[in-house]
Order: sequence, then structure tokens, then C-alpha cells
Amino acid sequence: MATSTHPAAPIDVAALRAEFPVLERRINGHPLAYLDSAATTLKPRSVLDALDRYNRTATANVHRGVYTLAEEATELYEGARERVAALVNAPSSEQIIYTRNTTEAINLVALSWGRSNLRDGDLIVCSEMEHHSNLVPWQMLAGATGARLEFVPIDDAGHLRLEVLDDLLGQGPRLVAITAVSNVLGTINPVASIIRKAHDAGARVLLDAAQSIPHQPVDVAALDVDWLAFSGHKMYGPTGIGVLYGRRSLLEEMPPVLGGGDMIRRVGLRASTWNDLPWKFEAGTPAIAEAIGLGAAADFLLAAGLDRVWSHERALVEYAMGRLAEIDGVRVYGPPEVAEHGGAISFNVGDVHPHDVASVLDGEGIAIRAGHHCAQPLIERLGVAATSRASVGLYTTTDDIDRLIAGLATVKRVLGVA
Ligand code: PMP
Repeated sequence: MATSTHPAAPIDVAALRAEFPVLERRINGHPLAYLDSAATTLKPRSVLDALDRYNRTATANVHRGVYTLAEEATELYEGARERVAALVNAPSSEQIIYTRNTTEAINLVALSWGRSNLRDGDLIVCSEMEHHSNLVPWQMLAGATGARLEFVPIDDAGHLRLEVLDDLLGQGPRLVAITAVSNVLGTINPVASIIRKAHDAGARVLLDAAQSIPHQPVDVAALDVDWLAFSGHKMYGPTGIGVLYGRRSLLEEMPPVLGGGDMIRRVGLRASTWNDLPWKFEAGTPAIAEAIGLGAAADFLLAAGLDRVWSHERALVEYAMGRLAEIDGVRVYGPPEVAEHGGAISFNVGDVHPHDVASVLDGEGIAIRAGHHCAQPLIERLGVAATSRASVGLYTTTDDIDRLIAGLATVKRVLGVA
């Protein structure tokens, strides 16, 4: 994805950390070392304040009332959409559809564009490293339409096997649905060239950007991507709100999936017509406070500077991978090249079950994730039952990584790993 080439001044991590009240907590007698940002990020005060302000002082439904509070709520809700559009450089905020999360954004495309465009035998290309939310909706679509699914496999280092993608593109797929960054392996996929090649082959491209939006500058106009899906809660915003960005011509021709209030222009007893973008896809009273919180999160990231966040997190990943490599019995998955390894680092400690690793670390105040990370086919491909995963955010420090490394020594000692 687009990253600027000019060196960015480092972010002031201490000042940023002070914005996250959860970091003040002690867990099991220790300061919190939060290394699970790939699951959900912590929330800064500006986001909490935005949620609170709507709920305390500007509560009203949107798009309906003509009284002051209702106008204020609508302005905040639609203003947030502008901030999100700015974050991803969308040509217009009308192309930013609020959803509940990445999962719902992907399902929206599958149910709307997919059901009205795909036919028996049409090809959908995914990869072996997809999160369930960029896999199961396509399985359901294939089941409903007779379309077939093919997968770009990974090599042993966790890169996509791009020569297989080229072969699949030669078969004229209708859609390539792929993740920008793997939530398990951390692999940063070469999405700009994948999009170009897929378009040359006549395919539409959906990018799952859940793991890239909070970490690096993403420019939908430069990428020329057809759809991009992401979640508020992984980008320092609230849960319950996510985004589908779409190319305007596609969004305009896509039928709505949910019917009800707000998504209509005119309703008769037997037939109705649809509202303009983006509301055509936003039936019913939306997640108003959460959308406003998402706008605050977009502002927070824009102010922090994604170039700077990217550099900060690159250094942390390099440091963490170096330190993990020093520990006997620890196996790290995903690309060994730091330039190709995003903010999620999966590993195993000997034969210890990752749940045991995570639970010993929790005793030390260190939060990591353990399990299949909603990517069961990938975990099976790795030949393991589960992995432990440490992931970074803009508030992560080398001290958090040092705590993880010391915690892993405790894991080895407590669980008897040589
Ligand atoms: N895709 C990827 C790559 C993810 O990491 C996640 C969340 N772990 C999702 C999709 C799904 O996000 P959500 O649960 O917010 O819909």
C-alpha cells in the first residue's frame, strides 16, 4: 500500500500512551503490556469523549428531526463520514458505507453485487491466508450461485504464491477477494500489483483492509480498488461500526441488502425506490454514537500521522522478531523479512499449547492472543493446532516487547520447555 518515501519524525509514544486510559490499569499486579491490537485496539480519550458527547449532550436520531439536537446529531454523524473518507482518500464521503464491521462490509458485497452478478461456473479467487470473514461469505455466495472458489496458496514462509494467482487470473475470474495484511502471519501482500493484474484480467477486487488501515497510509484512489472493508474497533475506534468503501459506479448499480427506514426514497404499499448513496445501504437507525466515535478515530490517526505510525511499528516488529529469534524452542511464522511482515507476529513455544502460553503471560500482565485467529484453513496449512500471536499498535513500546520476551522465559520455566 502507499507509503511515503520521505522520513517521518518519530511519533511521541509517551504522549500517545497517555491518551489511552486502559494503559493505566494493572493486570494481576503488573502494568498492562497490551499486545493484542490485531484483535482490537485500545481506545483513546478523543474517541471516548466523542461517544460520550453524543450520548450525554447531542442524543437524537439522524436524518429525521428538524430540531437543533437532531441537526447536531446528523452533522456529527455525517461529519464523521467525511473524516473517514479523508483517512482513506476516498473521492467522496458518499462512497463510505457504514457497516457493523469488516465482516458485514464483505457480506454486503457478497449479498448485493455477488448475488446479482455471479452465475454458475464464475470464478472467485481468494487466498489460503484469509480470515473467515473474507472466506465464508464467498463460500455462501458460491453455494447460492454455483460460482466456484479457488485459492492462492502460500509458500512455507507465508508469502502468497503469486505465480498461482497469475494462473488463476488467466482463467478470467469475476472477483479477487484478498487480505491486505494477514492477521496470523503478518504477511503484507503486494496489493497494488495484485489489483492492477486482476483488473487487467477483468476481475473486480475486494481488499480486506482490517489489518492495514490502522498501521499504514491507505489510499483507495491510488490503489484503484473496487471495494475496501475495515473495522472501527481495530483502528482505535468503537466496536459496532465498520466501513465498506466502494467504487461509485459499482455502489450505484448494487441493490440494497436490507430494507427499511432511511434506505428509501419513496415507499408505496407494493414497491419502493431507493435512497442515494451512501444511505441506500444503511437501513434503520444506525450506530450513531459509534459512527461519531469512528470519525474521532480517523482524526486521531490523521493527527498521529500514518507514515509515522508505520515507521514506529516497523521498528517494533524488527525488534520483536530479532528478540524472539534469540529464544530456543520458539518458532515464528510468517515472512522472515521485516519489510514484508506487518504488526502481527505468530509463534509457538515448543509443544506448549498457545492457550497455556497466553495464560502464563496473563499472570505477568501481558495480553496476547492464542488460537486459530479465525483462520482455520491457514492454521491447518501451518500444520499446527493453534498459534500464539503478539501484535502491535501505535502505543506499543520496546518495553512491551521486552516484557513479552521475559514472559516467554517464565512460560518455558513454568511449563518445562527445554
Ligand atoms: N479480516 C481480518 C484480516 C481480520 O484480522 C479481522 C479481525 N480479526 C476481520 C477480517 C474481521 O473483523 P471484524 O470481526 O471486525 O468483522
